[in-house]
Amino acid sequence: MSGTYAARALVLRKTKLGESDLIVTALSSEGHQIRAVAKGARKPGSRFGARVEPFTVIDGLFARGRTLDVLTEAQTVAAHDRVRADYEAVRAAAVAADFLDRVTAESDAEPRLFELGVATIDAIEDATPEALPTLVCAFLVKAMAMQGLRPQLSGCVSCGGPCAPAPAFSLSGGGTVCPACVGGDPSAIAVSGDLQGALAWLLRSRLAEIAAEPLPDCVAREALVVLRAFASHHLPARLRALDAYLRG
Ligand SMILES: [Zn+2]
Repeated sequence: MSGTYAARALVLRKTKLGESDLIVTALSSEGHQIRAVAKGARKPGSRFGARVEPFTVIDGLFARGRTLDVLTEAQTVAAHDRVRADYEAVRAAAVAADFLDRVTAESDAEPRLFELGVATIDAIEDATPEALPTLVCAFLVKAMAMQGLRPQLSGCVSCGGPCAPAPAFSLSGGGTVCPACVGGDPSAIAVSGDLQGALAWLLRSRLAEIAAEPLPDCVAREALVVLRAFASHHLPARLRALDAYLRG
């Protein structure tokens, strides 16, 4: 386990360590979570500068350690400065970074989560304020699909029969339920007629298309509430940044 390695990574979180160091949590382009110490990163004029700020993509050199690795060098690939300059953009990007922090591990590898995370933060950087909630929805539904939680939206998850627009979403079944089955599913939550189509559109569309034609605010908000309930039904981790985003 000794030696050094190079990795491209998206910085998700930084936490203080001791007097002047930081622990940087990042997602590598291979989909592994990296936790590494950036020594002296909180000293004025540190050689790391802003490269260890959340939402930055770096090419890093890491030295393996017994518990934590050490970040020895970092080059900026994408600074995403414009995200950090805008409060609403920061709140939106934080939902993505927090989700990636909670669901990834050092042992797991899902390279598509890195690509989705970087693409989402790129899109947030260029988005209008109205498009931000829809981009957060798009990230969540796509990321959950990559985690094996792709919402089933083409019919009823219980009986397989057609249902559009579906009156409810089953948290345990992971998809839409028809009027006949909804009474027998205690995990079903009532949804508006717009939700099913909105989630299906978010799943099949590219982020650039989604940002150009955002959902009405009430639909985006409903989708966020349903996705939060779906995530907390299946994932062990609490998505605190999403909770904060919904509190507004
Ligand atoms: Zn049914």
